[in-house]
Amino acid sequence: MSVPMITLNDGTKIPQLGLGVWKMPDDEAPGIVMSALNNGYRHIDTAAIYGNELGVGKGIAQSDVAREDIFVTSKLWNDQQGYDETLRAFDESVGKLGFDTLDLYLIHWPMPAKDKFVETWKAFIRLRDEGRVRAIGVSNFLPENLERLVDETGVTPALNQVELHPRFQQLSQRAAHAKLGIATECWSPLGQGELLTEPALIEIASRYGKSAAQVILRWEIQLGLITIPKSSNHDRMRENISVFDFELTMEEMAQIAALDSKDGRIGPDPATADF
Ligand code: NAD
Repeated sequence: MSVPMITLNDGTKIPQLGLGVWKMPDDEAPGIVMSALNNGYRHIDTAAIYGNELGVGKGIAQSDVAREDIFVTSKLWNDQQGYDETLRAFDESVGKLGFDTLDLYLIHWPMPAKDKFVETWKAFIRLRDEGRVRAIGVSNFLPENLERLVDETGVTPALNQVELHPRFQQLSQRAAHAKLGIATECWSPLGQGELLTEPALIEIASRYGKSAAQVILRWEIQLGLITIPKSSNHDRMRENISVFDFELTMEEMAQIAALDSKDGRIGPDPATADF
């Protein structure tokens, strides 16, 4: 079964499930990306800071899948924020990937203390208007950061990639996205693997002959979120994309909703992150 597409606010279509490649060594990325493409993945999430854009690009070039059938995201790292710096960083990223155009480019973190994200966003708008990137978005932006972008440039990000998993469900952030027409993409959608021993998830999974990982990903899919689980292991990659042949009930969705925790955040807080 193929992965459904989500239509972003600019009309671009993105596969709802993709492969995250954070911490994947550059020299291993070609083989893993090729294996993912062979297993039905058509969406890869990388970033300049991951240091594997070259490897991701090689995997795509060496695969049997056409470039235009693969949706690739990369992200601008924090020390390259600023108008001119962004244009240079974008050239570096697409150069390493070996592409003419990128599908989605994200500002990786807002870095509010640096106060450069609005000028950075203006460079993103230029790149989109020049046709060098199909869609532009952000990552880790708080509602007030999003509102500032819209107020000062008139251009709403297509998507915001934020930490989101059953222990950190981001209800108010999701409500802000819905109000602005911004799609929500989940990073660390499996809680970096920490959630997989949660008894409630294991119990639900056993009813369908599925794993806890598949139940989490299915919950995200049914909420209409975009999700990018990471695995370098071929069996797990296959497992993570096999979530379109069962459906959680409303009661099960509510059981998972009850796992939300105010201490559930794993990564940095975007309001104070400064790195
Ligand atoms: P994740 O939640 O996807 O968990 C990945 C880990 O879970 C793997 O290392 C593996 O150990 C384990 N795992 C995966 N599938 C499994 C399975 N089926 N069974 C058992 N264990 C399994 O964590 P992540 O890598 O942090 O997040 C996914 C992607 O999100 C990243 O690769 C990256 O692309 C993106 N990301 C973005 C940001 C950001 O700031 N924008 C931050 C973190 C991650």
